[in-house]
Amino acid sequence: MRDTALLQLALGLTPPWSVSRADVDAKARRLDIQIDFAPGSRFACPSCGKTDCPAYDTERKTWRHLDFFQHQAYLTARVPRIRCEACGIKTVTVAWARPGSGFTLLFEAMLMSMIPAMPVAAVARMVGEHDTRLWRVVHHYVKQGRARLDASDVTRVAIDETAARRGHDYITLFIDIDQARVVFATEGKGAETVAAFAEDLTAHGGEPEAIEEVCIDMSPAFIKGERARERGVAGNLPEAAVTFDKFHAVKIINDAVDRVRRGEQKSQRMLKGTRYLWLRNPASLSDRQRATLESLPTRHLKTARAYQMRLAFQDLYQQDSTEQAARYLKKWYFWATHSRLPPMIDAAHTVKRHWDGILRWFHSKITNGLIEGINSLVQAAKSKARGYRSMRNLKAMVYLLAGKLDLRLPA
Ligand SMILES: [Zn+2]
Repeated sequence: MRDTALLQLALGLTPPWSVSRADVDAKARRLDIQIDFAPGSRFACPSCGKTDCPAYDTERKTWRHLDFFQHQAYLTARVPRIRCEACGIKTVTVAWARPGSGFTLLFEAMLMSMIPAMPVAAVARMVGEHDTRLWRVVHHYVKQGRARLDASDVTRVAIDETAARRGHDYITLFIDIDQARVVFATEGKGAETVAAFAEDLTAHGGEPEAIEEVCIDMSPAFIKGERARERGVAGNLPEAAVTFDKFHAVKIINDAVDRVRRGEQKSQRMLKGTRYLWLRNPASLSDRQRATLESLPTRHLKTARAYQMRLAFQDLYQQDSTEQAARYLKKWYFWATHSRLPPMIDAAHTVKRHWDGILRWFHSKITNGLIEGINSLVQAAKSKARGYRSMRNLKAMVYLLAGKLDLRLPA
C-alpha cells in the first residue's frame, strides 16, 4: 500500500477525491496532505443540490486536521467552484470541513470535546492556535445547537442575574427548572431582560403565556415602578406567578442584621470580631463560637434582637400552608416594624413589597437553590471563558456548559 492510499483510507475520502501526495517536514513537525479530484469530475450544487455540475475554476484551501503523531497535519485541496444554472457560481462543499472553517470537522470535534474541560486559552495553547479561531468554532456549534432548541414545554423558569466581571457587566440567565438547563442568557439585568427572554422563547417554539411560575430574586429592578412592570415579568409573562427566591429573602434580613451590628459596634466593643456569629445559623457554629455567643449579654444588645428576628424569619419557611405562613409573616412584620431598629424596619418594608412573592413559595416550592448545579456550571463557564474578551463569548460558554444543547458534533 502506498502512503497516499493509507492516508486516503484513514481520511475516509471517497471519489472523486483522493490523496495526491503527502510530505512530512520533520523539522517543522508538519505533515501536509494534498487532496485532489479526478479531471472532468462533476459536483453537486451546494445551494440547490443539482448534480453533475462541471467545475468552473478552483480555489486552493488548507485545513488543519488532527495531529499525525507528533506532527501537525494539514489538508490542502483545490476546491472547485461550479456554475449552476439556477444559483450561479458556487463553491462546492467538501465532506471533511464546513464552509468557511480553516479546520477539518474532526479537528473541530476534538476542540469541542476539550473546551468544556478547560479554559479556551489553555486549549488554544495546547493545539497551537490563536484563541479567537477557537471561539469561532464554539460560536458555530452553539449557534447550531441553539437553533435546534425546543422550548415548547417550558413552564417554570428561574431568573438569575450574575456579575460577569466583578461588579461590572451583568448576565441574566433564564433557567428551565424542569429540565435544569439554561434556555436563555442575555446581557444586562432587571426588567428589560424579560422582554428579550419572551421573544427568544417564542422564537424557539415556546409561549410566554405558557410560563406559569417564575422564581426571581428580590432585585427591585424586576418589579419596582410602572416601567419595569411593563417590561418585566408582569408585562411579558402574563400568566406567571412570581415566587421570590427564599435564599434572597433571608439574605435581605441577614444583611439588615449585619447593618445593626455595624451600627452598634461603635458603642459596644464586645461585638468586635463577632460578625460571623450573627450571620450563621446556630447549628453551624463551632462549640467555641457558640460559647462566645452565649457569653454575650444578649438581652441588652440590639444585634441580638435583630438576630432573633432573622431566625424567626427563617422559620417562616417551616410553616405548613400559605394561610399559616401569611399569619406568621404578619406577626413577624409587626415585630420587625416595631423594633426601633432602622435596618430591620427597612428590611420589613422590603418584605412587605414582596409579600405575595414570598408567600407564593408555599405553593410553588421553587427556589433558585434548585439551580445551584447550574450556577456552578456558570461559574465554570466564567473560568473557562477567562479572558473571554466579550459577553458574547461568555454567553456561548454558558450555553455550551449549561444549555444541554443538541450540538451534533461530527464523529
Ligand atoms: Zn444550484
